[in-house]
Amino acid sequence: MNAQQLSDRLKRVASYVPEGAVLADIGSDHAYLPCYLALKGVIKGAIAGEVVKGPYESAQKKVRQEGLQDIIDVRLASGLAAVDPADSVTAISIAGMGGPLITSIIDDGKEKLAGVQRLILQPNVHSKSIREWAASNGWAIVEEEILKENDKIYEILVLEPSASPINFTEKELLMGPILSKEKSAVFNEKWSRESAQWKRILVSMEATEQTLHILGKKQELVDKIRLVEEVLHDENT
Ligand code: SAM
Repeated sequence: MNAQQLSDRLKRVASYVPEGAVLADIGSDHAYLPCYLALKGVIKGAIAGEVVKGPYESAQKKVRQEGLQDIIDVRLASGLAAVDPADSVTAISIAGMGGPLITSIIDDGKEKLAGVQRLILQPNVHSKSIREWAASNGWAIVEEEILKENDKIYEILVLEPSASPINFTEKELLMGPILSKEKSAVFNEKWSRESAQWKRILVSMEATEQTLHILGKKQELVDKIRLVEEVLHDENT
């Protein structure tokens, strides 16, 4: 992968960045995403934020190699500490991390979200925590995508500020309000895999002492399996 030739996953993330955006890409190992968007002329400017020195140096090197220092500023910082109000960032991308880490980055940096018009978030797992955060913090989910690359399944969630209250059902929180309506082949594959995995865990739990804790965990799994199977098998959802 390089700045001209992105992975399909990052190309799809890039497709949600608006023309003329000032982008903050947080967790910007190699700065591939902002470099790709700058070379295509999509973004006006970008901050590539990275918390670890090695990836930060790789990002700096890549930006220099591409001659994009005037457009992309690489900063060593954790989460949205990389962003200053004077940057007038309009879009933020955070890709390739778990949902709970992405959620903690946007929640810890909430005060930096004033003026941001779009969040493009690509959790590798547990996207539910992002949807819970969106509902509690007034961000609507305007686009969702699920894709498979090298046998791994990824989700992309695009959030925009909303004036009206956001409410999701349990099914929408877990599986996505848009994805659970579309029910693509990749979506069906992901949730069939998850459900099979939960069933295996349930079987293995039978072999342990049935404490209140274990009984509670089993009930959680039974509820999730029922919810997922309802969506997978219901023609109308
Ligand atoms: N965004 C790229 C992508 O999707 O291919 C890189 C993903 S890589 C798996 C995750 C990167 O996020 C790592 O380089 C890691 O150091 C960085 N990271 C993790 N937590 C971070 C944080 N709190 N602030 C900034 N960067 C972070």
